[in-house]
Amino acid sequence: MIKRVKRECPHCSELFTPKTVTSVYCTEQCSKRAYQKRKTEEKKELRRQSLIAKIPADKTFITVPEAILIFDIAKTTVYRLIKNKSVPSVNEGSRLIRVDRQALEKLFPLSTKSKTERIDANPFVYDLAKENCYTIGEIAQKFQLHDTSVYKHIRKYSIPTRQIGNYVYAPKSEIDKLYNGIIN
Ligand SMILES: [Zn+2]
Repeated sequence: MIKRVKRECPHCSELFTPKTVTSVYCTEQCSKRAYQKRKTEEKKELRRQSLIAKIPADKTFITVPEAILIFDIAKTTVYRLIKNKSVPSVNEGSRLIRVDRQALEKLFPLSTKSKTERIDANPFVYDLAKENCYTIGEIAQKFQLHDTSVYKHIRKYSIPTRQIGNYVYAPKSEIDKLYNGIIN
């Protein structure tokens, strides 16, 4: 017998037993608070985007504050990149450092996407890269189960799978979580 595996609430980090496989937050209250937080982030993000929009798109060398704004990175990161010459820069005097925007874009491609877009992405991010997955056979062997039981559990707990050739893969993290929660 398998009891439902405890899950960590993304808002308060408490471990809780989800009511359904799709339960994300531990309580209604956490769900509401997370929603509020998301709304606040969205507003902040809109403000950020409107500031970014004021920076001319054809400006190839940008200021440090502009770099921080566009790429959502720390000031220290920008200065470190300039110092170790990871990005081309020009220095026209103190407070007049300019950095190569395109070079930063190559280093931080994700940051050009809006923050809210990233937040709103599926809260369950599964890594289905082959090296981070078990095959069904490997799961059966590791946890001393029959293949058909493994399939049943995967369906029951909506664990994502991926087929490559003759093998079906499931993310190690989810499988370990599932079977480490086995209570006889
Ligand atoms: Zn919570």
